[in-house]
Amino acid sequence: MKIGEIIDNKQRSLSFEFFPPKDEPGETQLFENIHRLETLQPTFVSVTYGAGGGTLKNTHNIIERILRETSLNPMPHLTCIDQSKTELRRILKDYRSLGVDNVLALRGDPPKGTDKFVAPKKGFCHANDMVALAVAVGGFSIGVAVYPEGHMESPDPETDMYYTRMKIEAGADFGITQMFFDNRFYYDFMERAAKAGIHIPIIPGIMPITDVGRIKRFSQRCGAALPDYVEKRFEKVTTPQDGKKVGIELATEMCADLLKNDVFYFHFYTLNQSDFVLEVVKNLGLQEFGGK
Ligand code: FAD
Repeated sequence: MKIGEIIDNKQRSLSFEFFPPKDEPGETQLFENIHRLETLQPTFVSVTYGAGGGTLKNTHNIIERILRETSLNPMPHLTCIDQSKTELRRILKDYRSLGVDNVLALRGDPPKGTDKFVAPKKGFCHANDMVALAVAVGGFSIGVAVYPEGHMESPDPETDMYYTRMKIEAGADFGITQMFFDNRFYYDFMERAAKAGIHIPIIPGIMPITDVGRIKRFSQRCGAALPDYVEKRFEKVTTPQDGKKVGIELATEMCADLLKNDVFYFHFYTLNQSDFVLEVVKNLGLQEFGGK
């Protein structure tokens, strides 16, 4: 089912992101967690592509398995990295023939071991071209990435907003944000987006923090600020269990504040786990936001 239409109808959404595991035990564990999260009847689930070394085949297999074995509405991520326009068209058509109705159209992160995006031969350099291609193939509800704190390569927030708008005008139905740890970045972005004429749903991406050191490295790489007060909350943490408890508290507080400010869309970066998300969703009654 098309995510854009569901969100338009329901004006709310609950969704989860997974990444393709590297081996069979990882996949077994992932599907155990997918089945646990399926009980929440999310609006959609998404599967990353390429980030951290995953291949197209991995993403495709996980999407195919989700369609075959669950009642979930899957959305593959697709990037421009190392791919010609012809190949991207073939991949999109293949997803359509599988029965996939949604795609997250991305430029992509540079592959592992490199830090600069390299223009692919006969391919695209920006997500707006991928959006246009998905529109041309037809049948998709299209999502794009947005950056409340600005994209790392953008010279300033205005330029970033200009290009964000460009990919939305190319045909995106909704955006999903990069992780952020201070809701003020999201509220400020939404205000600036509205002024720039952006009115599609922008779904906040919620990243669980259980291991603060790991998240700090992660957030530095993608330009998301980790506020001091968040780090302070982890100062007395000595065990992974304590870390998880603090992380659940923080995510619950963050989502409660979003709810208080009339935000009714939630996308969780699950890191292929389920306990954390189940707990936060239960704390806030967010299961009511799911459904198709
Ligand atoms: P773009 O929108 O193309 O933007 C990239 C940069 O170019 C920005 O600085 C932008 O301002 C600028 N720009 C955009 N359009 C133009 C234009 N037409 N001309 C000139 N400049 C332009 N990465 C992966 O590899 N795999 C994933 O599965 C993945 N999933 C993600 C999911 C979400 C929700 C998010 C937020 C990010 C994800 N990423 C993923 C990371 C993403 O690929 C990187 O942040 C990447 O660096 C930019 O991708 P983009 O689609 O935002 O690119």
